[in-house]
Amino acid sequence: MKHCPLCSTPLNRTLLEANLPAFSCSNCHGLWVSANEYLTWLAPNFSYPLPEIDLAHEFDTPYPVADNNKAILCPDCGRFLRRFQIWPNRKFHLDRCSSCNGIWFDRNEWQTLQAQNLHKQINIFFTEAWQEKLRGKEMQQRFENMYVELFGPEDYEKIKSIRHWLAEHPNGNRLTAYLTDRDPYKG
Ligand SMILES: [Zn+2]
Ligand SMILES: [Zn+2]
Repeated sequence: MKHCPLCSTPLNRTLLEANLPAFSCSNCHGLWVSANEYLTWLAPNFSYPLPEIDLAHEFDTPYPVADNNKAILCPDCGRFLRRFQIWPNRKFHLDRCSSCNGIWFDRNEWQTLQAQNLHKQINIFFTEAWQEKLRGKEMQQRFENMYVELFGPEDYEKIKSIRHWLAEHPNGNRLTAYLTDRDPYKG
């Protein structure tokens, strides 16, 4: 019998979707999905490479999500699950077993992904490429916040549009030289 990695309650068989069996915890409402069952469910519609996920898409959390931050063990093979953040600047993590690839969903995490139609692309979140993209986006956000604070929102918008204008301009280098020259009217 499998037990809940969070609260040790025996897990019950459940069906997440037609043809997608899983295990659920009646106490904390977490879900355990084995890699085999997940991939078997995906198989009829599986296309490779997986469709891109657009980070500009607003990540909604329509349900209260219980995102645990504990080091928990795989209900199948007893190893530590690895915690993956899945969206920039969101406290939303999935726990996945690096050995058997099973996935643990805290309460409402599956439902949240499902509501946004991301539940068929979950394996993307575990890739190095996605994790890197996510970190890049967070870094960008930190710089944005810094500039807004340094310049004020209005001046920041202005300097950003000038920067963009220069970057796109065929004469951009000369314009930049003119702009940064202490006195462009002296030889
Ligand atoms: Zn539980
Ligand atoms: Zn495992």
